[in-house]
Amino acid sequence: MTDGVDQLVEAYHALGNAGHGDLVWGHIALRDGSTGGFWMKAAGWGFEEVTRDRLVLLSSEGSVLAGKGPRHVEWPIHAEILRARPEVSAVVHTHAGAAVVFASLATPLRAISHDGVPFATPDVPRFTDTADLIRSSDLGAGLAATLADANGVLIPGHGLVTASATLAEAAMYAVLLDRACANQLRALQAGGPLLWSDASEVAAKQAMWTPASLASGFDYLVRRAHESRR
Ligand SMILES: [Zn+2]
Repeated sequence: MTDGVDQLVEAYHALGNAGHGDLVWGHIALRDGSTGGFWMKAAGWGFEEVTRDRLVLLSSEGSVLAGKGPRHVEWPIHAEILRARPEVSAVVHTHAGAAVVFASLATPLRAISHDGVPFATPDVPRFTDTADLIRSSDLGAGLAATLADANGVLIPGHGLVTASATLAEAAMYAVLLDRACANQLRALQAGGPLLWSDASEVAAKQAMWTPASLASGFDYLVRRAHESRR
């Protein structure tokens, strides 16, 4: 039986193995019910290198409450989204390559595959106040306001952020958003896309991404990451 912090370690390994690591940058946060703060990895480690000992517990104001190592300067991303969205327990921020390239095109994200469905409602929001690091509470709050109640947000020139009630969902949304961006980039290279799901079909297709199906996809990513570590 794994507790929440163990699942956070698994989420790092899963997203690292899924190609979301950027050397030692990007991070996943998990709300801590007892303190009102959140767990995330200490700065300086790659996703694949995360262990329980390399996590830090931060207060909602960014103070280190437990764990060793420096905090990431972009901790306000997590603090402010968790503050703005009480139903959210997990926030993912990565510099996933396809998302960064796609965001530079300022093109609406179309649901040309199942991957885009959680975001094409009708488009994924973009945070454009800055492409620099989100190192202040003001910027974090602005990002949270842009995300609003969406599943994810693109930050042109920087990366993506996803949020949800569970680690499995937030991690899967990061994977799905980057895949949706990669698919559309391929379609654009081929002269398209010409066909995509309209709003009513997107609404109907939301039913495929249940908490159970997202958890199933996440479990697969965890197993695959575990296999790769043998
Ligand atoms: Zn970043």
